[in-house]
Amino acid sequence: MFVDSHCHLDFPELRSDFDGVLARMRANGVTHALTISTTLETFPAVREVARARPNLWCSAGVHPDERRDGREVGLEELLAMADDPKVVAIGETGLDYFRVEGDTDWQRERFRVHIRAARACGKPLVVHTRESAADTVRILGEEGAREVGGVMHCFTESWEVAQAAIDLGFLISFSGIVTFKNAAALKEVAKKVPLERMLVETDSPYLAPVPHRGKTNEPAFVKHVAEEIARLRDIAVDDVARSTTANFFALFRHARPEAA
Ligand SMILES: [Zn+2]
Ligand SMILES: [Zn+2]
Repeated sequence: MFVDSHCHLDFPELRSDFDGVLARMRANGVTHALTISTTLETFPAVREVARARPNLWCSAGVHPDERRDGREVGLEELLAMADDPKVVAIGETGLDYFRVEGDTDWQRERFRVHIRAARACGKPLVVHTRESAADTVRILGEEGAREVGGVMHCFTESWEVAQAAIDLGFLISFSGIVTFKNAAALKEVAKKVPLERMLVETDSPYLAPVPHRGKTNEPAFVKHVAEEIARLRDIAVDDVARSTTANFFALFRHARPEAA
């Protein structure tokens, strides 16, 4: 049994074949999934997807790539979004200096607001970081993110960054990138992260793992991520499945494993 800790089921590639996506999840032993909010405008659709099935949950948040010229998300607004039994996390939030040009103060401020919301409602953080690891870790520390914890999703950073995140009480989530031939450094990190600090995800519809690379990704493919981690560590895929599933429900404690 696997849990996809990060997917985007409201995106048209997956939403247009919702029943098929869910059927293939079941057929591949992927029992639960967390579908992730990226904009204010699409949050109701994300929540609707989560409400459609007992084994789906969602997050509430605005992605760091989302330019909001003028209407920035506020603490009260985030808390109102999070005040729902289907919302088990805050995010995805974080920093992304790869996608954004010019001034990035607004990204750091938005990140801080998300961390404050997570602490205020007691729901953990889903953190995205790209070319911004030092600032991401620093702000998590400054804002007391340890109190709620969370996950560094789609992890592609160094072992040192993984260690810093683990020291802050965070989990490390690996995506299909770990199956890519050119991801040698990341494979080494995936060997070292303790199993009890690890999650697996697809980040679908993007980043399909080998052997589906280049195609539309979907939650059923999370088993390929777990299989690669098992191969790298020379352990049974069942051990990866059991640990990452237990870690998911320990972190996102508003999600219930018995829901199916
Ligand atoms: Zn992300
Ligand atoms: Zn994402």
